[in-house]
Amino acid sequence: MVVVMKPRTSVEIIEKLSKKLESLGCSVHKTQGHDYCILGLVGDTSRIDPSQIEANDYVDRLLRVQHPFKLAGRTFHPENTVIDVLGHKIGDGNLTVMAGPCAVESEEQLLTIAHAVKEQGAHILRGGAFKPRTSPYSFQGLEEEGLKLLKKAREITGMPVVTEVICLETFDIVEAYADIVQIGARNMQNFALLKKAGKSKTPVLLKRGMSATMEEWLMAAEYIMSEGNPNVILCERGIRTFEKYTRNTLDLSAVPMVKELSHLPIIVDPSHATGKWSMVEPLSKAAVAVGVDGLIIEVHHQPELAVSDGAQSLKPEKFAHLMDSVKKIAQINSI
Ligand code: PEP
Ligand code: MN
Repeated sequence: MVVVMKPRTSVEIIEKLSKKLESLGCSVHKTQGHDYCILGLVGDTSRIDPSQIEANDYVDRLLRVQHPFKLAGRTFHPENTVIDVLGHKIGDGNLTVMAGPCAVESEEQLLTIAHAVKEQGAHILRGGAFKPRTSPYSFQGLEEEGLKLLKKAREITGMPVVTEVICLETFDIVEAYADIVQIGARNMQNFALLKKAGKSKTPVLLKRGMSATMEEWLMAAEYIMSEGNPNVILCERGIRTFEKYTRNTLDLSAVPMVKELSHLPIIVDPSHATGKWSMVEPLSKAAVAVGVDGLIIEVHHQPELAVSDGAQSLKPEKFAHLMDSVKKIAQINSI
């Protein structure tokens, strides 16, 4: 951290501030110019609250040198994190495909889709049992019944399952059935839920909030990791912009940027990013081309009858086409 003092601040005031900062655990290196004095803070700055320093009348500016996400960041953890989910490895160049319906609707629906996506090479089955819907009148999910169906689908197909947790009260029950718990865009800054997920060891799929900066998203990962759970998978699912033709705007720049900043695996959700099935394959290809660690795709055998997100769900044959094309791009990437 670098603190730039206002021009001509007296020596006494600078000394007083330096002592205060040192008492918080860091060492202070002073550079005195003709008008300006600059304080370089090194060592442990974790107990320093930047906004308290900025509130000081004699401080002109504060510059952060290090990222605030110490655990999620690459600085102290240069090698890529690989997360093991029932023997399947997520991260570090492995292309993981998660696929399935938006919501678990019935045993027949889930098993039909699970078999179809498995046949095409998907590794992990997705399906929401607790659905965060914009309208309270929309289908809210089968809840525990849906979780039981996911368990059954895992037993039959051998695919691990990822499913969303939407509140603290149902965390334990969701975790009991899930191989990966999903924290959705709407809950990305639900700090109590993040802390709860951090106390568990179950891998967490952390979606980017719809108007979250990459730093806020990585800080949300930091909440989970600082409670002791290192198994975080990030998911870019589009952010809200002025554009209305698509449901959200897929921020593909997040993939290489997050890879520079963090060692955590990052996947892309082109279904929620666009809201349109016709855009899911092109953007999956683009995501793989920029080096994503995986995709999460909504698939439904009867999208016109789906109780949620039918318009963005791929029919199994379209999903098969997508799998073929992304595999080709992944092969080129590995050359
Ligand atoms: C979902 O994956 O079902 C979902 C609700 O996604 P998001 O949180 O990205 O909107
Ligand atoms: Mn959905």
